[in-house]
Amino acid sequence: MNYEPVIGLETHVQLLTRCKIFCSCPTSFGEQPNKNTCPVCLGLPGALPVLNGKVLELAIKAGLAIDCQIAERLRFNRKNYFYPDLPKGYQISQFKHPICFGGFIDIVLPSGSKRICITRAHLEEDAGKLLHEGIPDGSYVDFNRAGVPLLEVVTEPDLRSSSEAYQYLTMLKAVMRYAGVSNCNMEEGSLRCDANVSIRPSGSEKLGTRAEIKNLNSFRAVQKAIEYEIKRQTELLDTGKTVAQETRLWNESRQVTIAMRSKEEAHDYRYFPEPDLVPFTVSREEVERIRKMLPELPRDLSDRFQKQYGLTAYDAGVLVQEQRLAHFFEEAVKCGTQPKSASNWIQSELLGILNERKLSIEKSPVSAKDLAELIALIEKGTISGKIGKEVLPRMVDEQKTARQIIESSGLTQITDEAAIGKVALKAIQANPKSVEAFKSGKETALGYLVGQVMKETQGRANPQLVNKILKEKLEQTI
Ligand code: ADP
Ligand code: MG
Ligand code: ZN
Repeated sequence: MNYEPVIGLETHVQLLTRCKIFCSCPTSFGEQPNKNTCPVCLGLPGALPVLNGKVLELAIKAGLAIDCQIAERLRFNRKNYFYPDLPKGYQISQFKHPICFGGFIDIVLPSGSKRICITRAHLEEDAGKLLHEGIPDGSYVDFNRAGVPLLEVVTEPDLRSSSEAYQYLTMLKAVMRYAGVSNCNMEEGSLRCDANVSIRPSGSEKLGTRAEIKNLNSFRAVQKAIEYEIKRQTELLDTGKTVAQETRLWNESRQVTIAMRSKEEAHDYRYFPEPDLVPFTVSREEVERIRKMLPELPRDLSDRFQKQYGLTAYDAGVLVQEQRLAHFFEEAVKCGTQPKSASNWIQSELLGILNERKLSIEKSPVSAKDLAELIALIEKGTISGKIGKEVLPRMVDEQKTARQIIESSGLTQITDEAAIGKVALKAIQANPKSVEAFKSGKETALGYLVGQVMKETQGRANPQLVNKILKEKLEQTI
């Protein structure tokens, strides 16, 4: 039987505020345990929550950035459950009335673009963190995270593969970062994702039973867990068994999902309106004021790069993933580089070099202007493209401009025909076999001789001239 995977993602995005959602404790990461706490976020009796206005602004901004509608009336609910990292015994969340609903994110696939619908995005407070590792006498709890503002973005079950899920997360992260609502740093837990996975017979409209997978700590883990889950469920159905609706945990070291608990239902949480926070209206003027604060978003930027600079959807898509990368590209173009070469040099050379050195584009020692100068030197023929590729990593490591490196290392391209002629003659004399082969019609023999001349000149000879001169000399000897 052929099955179609169906995937829906629930992603927690930590909003970039200085203070927590219902108190003025700082949200700073990596502090001493329980330093960022007060009676409100510790859930002490009688302490009253007050909504942080900045949280509201960022949530609306995030919602608008993914084309959501913004609710007119806002209210919070209590989601009741017991857990040692939840001191109040309930989490303040939103249930039937999320702040944002009905949006979408377009992802770029090899087959074209695909729209992933966003069901809703709601506000909630984070819980604390239990620490078990390396503690012999029990477990510790750190409430620094309790009350940190989260926006949970929930998709329709529109995704069909692990790579679509990966593209969706990449795009969600890009949009949230552009909008300035979250840094989406997975290592620090400011982006967390649960994956709902089911399969159904190909062609069927009815959704299969889903498993919800938690504990996914990287985009790669999301992909791997989805792939594992599809395989596990396929094997179950193929052997006449059924998939249980349950929550499963991804085990990174074993690369498997493990059953954690059978699925809880909404009524288990006994949601009810939060009595300490009154419902209120979000004015449309406020929504429009916030909409005006949004920058050019990745989708618009990608469209513009394709129209204005003739880039392919793929190239534009890569460049707009990071706002700084997009700006870097545009700056290089403004310095006179052809858009296609700027895009190629950034994507196939610079990003690789920075990656190896664990540098982000904003920390790049090579500026857009420096890169533009390097490309111009190649296009003018001062150095060959091959030398250019060797100069770029040196620019990064030595923090010098291309011109400085070329001058101090004598790397300028040899375009002197007489000089190239001498080396070409030497190559011809040293390789009689290749000369024979060329004479008997084997064009590829020329390539070998060109290689010898390039080697002799340490890659500095102009390859077109080498080709031309070698051909002339070989033809003279025929
Ligand atoms: P809950 O809050 O209990 O997890 P939701 O209805 O909010 O339930 O759905 C959570 C996520 O699960 C959504 O992203 C939704 O698209 C996805 N989902 C729902 N049903 C399925 C299914 N049968 N297969 C895959 N994903 C599903
Ligand atoms: Mg869920
Ligand atoms: Zn507090």
